[in-house]
Amino acid sequence: MIDHDKNIIEVKNISFAYGAEEVLSNISINVHQGDYLAFVGPNGAGKTTLLKIILGLLLPKKGSIRLFGRDIKDFKDWRKISYVAQGVNNFDHNFPATVLEIVLMGRYSRKGLLKNINSSDKKIAEKAIEQVGLSGFKNRLIGDLSGGQKQRVFIARALCAEPEVIFLDEPTAGVDRQSQDNFYMLLKKMNAELGITLVLISHDVERMLKEAMHIACIDHTLTCHTSPEEFLRESAAADIMGEKVRLIAHHHNN
Ligand code: ADP
Repeated sequence: MIDHDKNIIEVKNISFAYGAEEVLSNISINVHQGDYLAFVGPNGAGKTTLLKIILGLLLPKKGSIRLFGRDIKDFKDWRKISYVAQGVNNFDHNFPATVLEIVLMGRYSRKGLLKNINSSDKKIAEKAIEQVGLSGFKNRLIGDLSGGQKQRVFIARALCAEPEVIFLDEPTAGVDRQSQDNFYMLLKKMNAELGITLVLISHDVERMLKEAMHIACIDHTLTCHTSPEEFLRESAAADIMGEKVRLIAHHHNN
């Protein structure tokens, strides 16, 4: 049962600097089970940095992170969390692995590197490949796929770990419009039917307003956290915000 009131990620008073440059200042935000949250904001605003802190890849200067009710320092259940990093579509053309092999890698995060992959893992991988609509491609080399197809392979890999939450960093960068539409349909389905919590970084504000349940604006600090409906109402009311949206959308039209 999905409990939309249950906090699974609690970010409290996070500040972070790379050397002397403070990138994030005093950010607090919660993510609920079953949520579809979009982090939006201009380039260089600190969105990826925040994601890396939540994933334990960077240590904050100040503040705390709790994952599934535990302080990140004591959190061990990383299999619950999948991460699709930026730029997965730029995958090396000559990488000698098939779609199935790449997707199977998702099982390692669940089982640990030393455990053997068995036939039930293979079944789970094949199901994930089917869920993203790539059944006919499982034995193809990853380098031979289009950008949109590669992106689906990495979603299948994330699904294969059977996570409760998936983080995605600019997943549609460099992908054509039609593939983007299909991709967002797939995300919506994963969220609605499998109950997977999604946290997505995007600079495509207009798209996020259509897709996500909640919008969090990051510009070194948290400048808004609201529903798309409320965001639009506020934008209409305060022209400054409207201007901001246009600026972000304009700068990053891809
Ligand atoms: P966003 O994801 O919103 O585009 P980032 O979190 O990638 O923003 O970057 C925020 C700021 O931190 C930028 O000014 C960027 O240049 C800087 N930055 C990112 N990674 C590093 C790093 N490894 N070392 C130093 N500065 C960095």
